[in-house]
Amino acid sequence: MTPGEFILIPLAASALFVGVVAWIIWKNERVRPPNQCPKCGYDLQGRRNDGCSECGWNTRTPARRL
Ligand SMILES: [Zn+2]
Repeated sequence: MTPGEFILIPLAASALFVGVVAWIIWKNERVRPPNQCPKCGYDLQGRRNDGCSECGWNTRTPARRL
């Protein structure tokens, strides 16, 4: 291992780690526009209270339970 590699490899590893952590945080904190379903992103067109007809998010139909 040359001195250059000795510096570069841990640097690249930590940069990759920081990138992955930042991506996870960004993914979790990303907020969808208010007229889109928070579950699947389907455009609810202002009928958010009725729930999503695509994935069943927040609909009055009770979730199927076993
Ligand atoms: Zn949906």
